[in-house]
Amino acid sequence: MSARARIQGARHWRTGEAIDVVIVRGVIEAVSPAGALPEQPDEARFDAEGAVLAPGLVDLHVHLREPGQTAKETIASGTRAAAAGGFTDVACMPNTNPVLDEPARIEWVRNRAREAGHCRVHPIAAVTLGQQGEQLAPLLALREAGAVAFSEDGRPIMSAEVMRRALEYALPTGCPIVCHEEDLTLRGRGHMNEGVVSARLGLRGIPPAAEVIMVRRDVELAALTGGRVHLAHLSCAGSFEGLRDARRRGLAVTGETCPHYWMLTDEAVEGYDTLAKMNPPLRDERDRQATIAAIVDGTIDCFATDHAPHTADEKAQPFDQAPFGIVGLETALALTITGLVRPGHLSLERALELWTDAPRRVFGLPRVAVEPGSPADLVLFDPAAEWVIEPARFHTRGRNTPFAGRTVAGRVIATWLAGHTTHVDPERERRLLGKRSTAGVN
Ligand SMILES: [Zn+2]
Repeated sequence: MSARARIQGARHWRTGEAIDVVIVRGVIEAVSPAGALPEQPDEARFDAEGAVLAPGLVDLHVHLREPGQTAKETIASGTRAAAAGGFTDVACMPNTNPVLDEPARIEWVRNRAREAGHCRVHPIAAVTLGQQGEQLAPLLALREAGAVAFSEDGRPIMSAEVMRRALEYALPTGCPIVCHEEDLTLRGRGHMNEGVVSARLGLRGIPPAAEVIMVRRDVELAALTGGRVHLAHLSCAGSFEGLRDARRRGLAVTGETCPHYWMLTDEAVEGYDTLAKMNPPLRDERDRQATIAAIVDGTIDCFATDHAPHTADEKAQPFDQAPFGIVGLETALALTITGLVRPGHLSLERALELWTDAPRRVFGLPRVAVEPGSPADLVLFDPAAEWVIEPARFHTRGRNTPFAGRTVAGRVIATWLAGHTTHVDPERERRLLGKRSTAGVN
């Protein structure tokens, strides 16, 4: 992209007005009514064709798997997938090999991400050394190296005493502790939600209480310490009640949920489908409805994907041996529009807030807006365009999604990071090429 670029004829995500956006050296210089500003000869132009232009999406919960698990994903492939999904910022989890529990490893991840150039990556550091749940990691030094939060994601901090100390030590960093809420004694060897479906399939279940008990404990520890708690991937009614309680008491507790919890129930596991195996597990219809209610009434602070790529071989194992997790970066926006906006639960503007401004607030990331002076971190998408989810076309190395073959609405057309194009829809490219060659014949 040249130093000066123009996105012309876009629809502003908040006002709905037709606009042109002029970008100079990675920063938005002007936002004007479409066609109002004279074009300049040296600028690169992108015809938005009336699609919606919004700040780049932000995902606070992804597993980039590097270092150590590059068969599942790399920083380059995961961030390329993020760009394809309309994301300009992701926060990556520290349960890599080795674990991100040293400042040098945080810096390594940030450097790798910068080299790849697809997306801003904000590392989340481990709470304890090696994620062993015992000795605290050097939280202040990790913060100074660029960590935006601390988490043991993939597992809970089972010791309430360690969790209390972690919250106290994290206080001067201003960063939240991101909690994967699960009581391991209650989970036992469960592999899916405990209920009628698990009984029918003869699979050991994980009751919602395994999550709710830990949510309640950590709300009390936030009250005790004044520390910041961010509740990851909430999946059930009891957890939302816990978050509401924290809010009523004015505690520094926030929470996220993921598209699969509003799209699916444990019925998706029928046929022992390991592509519907994740942790927390898909719950029943009552919990799915409770998830939507918690989004609509503002209990949920933001969305996240819990993007968790695995290899096909790993997911081909019997249900009780396959790993937990699904990919999510390239389907998140479409599942939000299809599952929440189209049925009328949320306006498009509110849905986008939960992927942009809201997660930025939770992790204290700088504000991005479609206005002059803001970094040109942008996504252009067509909310009405329907497409079929085909995992073979994903940029992530993971193909593990339960949504293959589904028709969804909402297609990302282009993504820009500091004015650089990080993704353009290949369908658009093909269509424009077709147009051009027709023009040539005439
Ligand atoms: Zn988790």
